[in-house]
Amino acid sequence: MAGTLITGGTIIDCTGGKPKKNTALFVENGRIAKLGTAEAVKAFAAKRGPHKTIDASGMTVMPGLVDAHCHISYGDILSVEELDLYAGVEFRAIRAAHNAKKVLRAGVTAICDPGSTWNISVAVRDAINCGMIEGPRMASAGRYITTFNAIGSFWPTWMEHPQSSFAVLCNSRDEMITEVRREVKEGVDIVKVAGDGDAVQSHARESEGSLSPDDLRAIADTTHRLGRRCTIHARTGVVAAAAAEAGFDWLIHASYLNDQQLGVILRKRTPINPTLSLLANAVDWAPELGAPAGLIEAYKRELEAASRGLSKAYKEGVMIMAGTDSGQGAVPYGEWHARELEHLMNYLGLSAMDALKAGTIHAAVATGMQNEIGTLEEGKYADILVVDGDPLADIQVLQDKARLKVIMKGGVVIDTETPLPERSIYAWEKPMLYWNDPRLPGQDYVRQHAANKPDWMKKKASSRRAAE
Ligand SMILES: [Zn+2]
Repeated sequence: MAGTLITGGTIIDCTGGKPKKNTALFVENGRIAKLGTAEAVKAFAAKRGPHKTIDASGMTVMPGLVDAHCHISYGDILSVEELDLYAGVEFRAIRAAHNAKKVLRAGVTAICDPGSTWNISVAVRDAINCGMIEGPRMASAGRYITTFNAIGSFWPTWMEHPQSSFAVLCNSRDEMITEVRREVKEGVDIVKVAGDGDAVQSHARESEGSLSPDDLRAIADTTHRLGRRCTIHARTGVVAAAAAEAGFDWLIHASYLNDQQLGVILRKRTPINPTLSLLANAVDWAPELGAPAGLIEAYKRELEAASRGLSKAYKEGVMIMAGTDSGQGAVPYGEWHARELEHLMNYLGLSAMDALKAGTIHAAVATGMQNEIGTLEEGKYADILVVDGDPLADIQVLQDKARLKVIMKGGVVIDTETPLPERSIYAWEKPMLYWNDPRLPGQDYVRQHAANKPDWMKKKASSRRAAE
């Protein structure tokens, strides 16, 4: 494959160094072969023979974005029924392949998928890696390990927990260890644990965590012994700190941290992926999403708490990873990945440079590929964006797809011109509601019409009375 020279732009390499003007890089065999002054790299390229040239004059050259939290198998769900039950595994897998393209076309060249229905994430990862379909690089988890007392246990105890759920019920430590072993055998990169609840699951919300420190240690030790990494859904500080203490590789959410819990996380040097996009989008567009007021109040409280606790965590030096929870209906694939960087600046006080690092090299730590991607350095994969604008001056430029002039993954320029097929939604992907409009007041509406029964009903009632 002929090499590519990218020249004329300002390079932000995301190692933390200052932007470099008049710098160029040469891409060969999918990797960055040379990075340096425009003159030096041009001379290097000339020696390599015929090659393509991308003129990035007046633009920014930076690493591809990495989303540390993108569930490729979810399918933009708006309910737990859609998440856990509807659309069978075969259709879901094909839908996930379709959605992977949307993510890549948003400039996201790698994702960590921390939790999948079935083993779809692993299958999509492998299909991308062997060249069958287009999508970002992926690090994949299987189903969450959960208990009756954390997210993932959505269904009443009198029914069997569905196989199609994004979580697998493991109420004893032996079951947890067996599940880790099963998932590793099935090819996961990451073991995901549900440590507590959320605003949707009231029975778990006030909990001190569904797993004991010994449970957490058993999962982390087994995962690490088998050469994989583990992460946890931990909204409460008590669970976040316990997981950090047990050796979990990074924490997801950690919205409610006190100083003592933050102290544990600092001592263990555990990174945090806050995932503000889901909360912020739900709050910003509550009426359009039809979200109930109580839920939105709960999300607002969580955003405020996260802003307090995590801005302190950032100031004290905790590594912050950008992740969006894309695949949730409030955060559709390919739309909001870059906006998380803006949220990290607004809510947590990150500098623009640190927001860029959160969305590249720090998120890459969640993928386990931080030595291969996440910065522009010689030897790393050529996962590169050429952006019309300066994200350090205006972080929002990354949210405008028209400004992503080149998206390159492994040295290959991604086609963003040919439109992706528009798809329609089948009724069987959605919950089976009697009334699809949630604003219909149901029983009240029916009672109001009792006085206006059609004539045939009135007749029947009077003739019955006559017969008595
Ligand atoms: Zn998630």
